[in-house]
Amino acid sequence: MKFLVLSFLLCFSFFKSQKCYDLKTVLKVEPTALYRPHLLASQNFGVDILENEKTVDKYIARGKFQKVKKKSRGYRLQTLQHSRPYLVKKARTLLEKMAAKFATDTKSFFVVSSVTRTLEDQCRLRKVNSNASLGISSHNYGAAFDISYVRFDHVLKVNTKLEKALEKVLDYYKNQGKIFYIKEKQQSCYHVTVRNF
Ligand SMILES: [Zn+2]
Repeated sequence: MKFLVLSFLLCFSFFKSQKCYDLKTVLKVEPTALYRPHLLASQNFGVDILENEKTVDKYIARGKFQKVKKKSRGYRLQTLQHSRPYLVKKARTLLEKMAAKFATDTKSFFVVSSVTRTLEDQCRLRKVNSNASLGISSHNYGAAFDISYVRFDHVLKVNTKLEKALEKVLDYYKNQGKIFYIKEKQQSCYHVTVRNF
């Protein structure tokens, strides 16, 4: 019995030490002034920070997260490597609305390149992309997604005309108080956080 308890403890501490982040440290990282509104907005949906798959499953089971369709009028979802196709309801609905508006304006579609990330996903991402944030992000709360601006209609190139059309749609929703967005040049995407309007 003693042996069992001991091996359990050993296993547990091994598992713990395997964790690639320390929640306390992660939560202490101060967001930049530009990023702060995104973070605060994403924390307004009553979702706790998503640490791992289990936390995501909990919100799916509660009906809080909805699956993002692979495609809808005006957008396509890229094959996700470091994120999961779930969003809080309001964010999913707004993504579809934005995409439909973009399709009406341009007859084109945009590509969603990242959706919801757990802290564990973020660790894996950091291994391939050292620019990935060390602290928390609005992706960690199921209220943000990224839209690539170099993959319109699945064509990998800069397309200033469609980029401008996308910004017009983003500004439309931003001015209504429904989203915040940032152009992230390193990732060639627009980072969009939906507000709990
Ligand atoms: Zn992003």
